[in-house]
Amino acid sequence: MRLAAFGVAAALSLAVAPAQGSTRAIRFENRVDGYTIALPSGWHAAVIPDDGSATIASYRPRSVYHIAVTPPREQTWIRLYDEGPLWSRRHFMRRRPPRLPAAVPPVKPFEGFGSARRLEFRLDGHAFLAFVKGKPRGDVLSMLASIRLTARGRALALVQSVRVIGRSVEGRPIRMWRIGNPHSSTRVLVVGCIHGNECAGMAITQQLANLGLPITFDLWVVQDLNPDGLAAGTRQNAHGVDLNRNFGAMWKRIGRHGTFAYSGPRPWSERETRIARSLVLRIHPQVTIWFHQPQAIVRAWGRSIPTARRYARLAHVPFRAIPWPNGTAANWQNHLGEVSFVVELPAGRLSLAGARRYESAILGLPR
Ligand SMILES: [Zn+2]
Repeated sequence: MRLAAFGVAAALSLAVAPAQGSTRAIRFENRVDGYTIALPSGWHAAVIPDDGSATIASYRPRSVYHIAVTPPREQTWIRLYDEGPLWSRRHFMRRRPPRLPAAVPPVKPFEGFGSARRLEFRLDGHAFLAFVKGKPRGDVLSMLASIRLTARGRALALVQSVRVIGRSVEGRPIRMWRIGNPHSSTRVLVVGCIHGNECAGMAITQQLANLGLPITFDLWVVQDLNPDGLAAGTRQNAHGVDLNRNFGAMWKRIGRHGTFAYSGPRPWSERETRIARSLVLRIHPQVTIWFHQPQAIVRAWGRSIPTARRYARLAHVPFRAIPWPNGTAANWQNHLGEVSFVVELPAGRLSLAGARRYESAILGLPR
């Protein structure tokens, strides 16, 4: 779990168990991800605030950030990730990591780590992943088995899940985060980027995905529907199609390959728009927000005007009633009877304060 936006002063915390010779283990707390682990005597542990992962070692490592380390002879080094409740929940159970194995698995090469032993396991309702280097001591397994979620870890378990909902034309994953109360009947969908050169909204969706605070409604976040466009710095996807002219409502042929708003050969011709279609048809969000740039307004039409206007007020930006262009996502969703509108961010990158303002407007929207 990544919880950068939690607001906790997550300073690098370093715990040192009592020196060798003492038999007393201490319980080290990862306050970012919310769990404790019993450290055998003489072991060291530190949490890396950026991603909540922990470096745990039987010696004092020179840097807790590096993963390409080689522990001294007879010593053990571990990088531990709490991946949250992803695979513990029934509907996200695409694979089910086992409980801790009876023996430490064999050494294999892993990108960035060099060679390590990889342990994927489920404990206390969370999926964990550990890379173990050096001496495969028996106490590694008993130490990992001592992991217990704290109240914070349990609260986070209620609010986070993430999965790949499809792949772009060039095979890049398109991820969806689900945050908040899954039992709420208020479903809100936020898409950070659809035009690959208008992706400042990803600063907002990133913050939402990292929220780590309980919220009352059911919030679905797609960070980037057009990862190929983002990688290439183009508005269109890898086929040169403007995804936001490719949806199947009032679709008409616009432009041709290589032009600004090329609609594609037919509605839904693009994988990315089909991915968005199946997500929307599955969850039927009451409200959907699509981020674009660079007009610095909120724009909507028809049934979506009142909610969009309210969002604009909450975010302190101007609102404009503008009819939907042909084949846009919001056009299609409004024809389905949903509220869906566009937030045009200013040009360039969003400041942190700006991203917070647009983010809190989303959190304040449902009532
Ligand atoms: Zn746009």
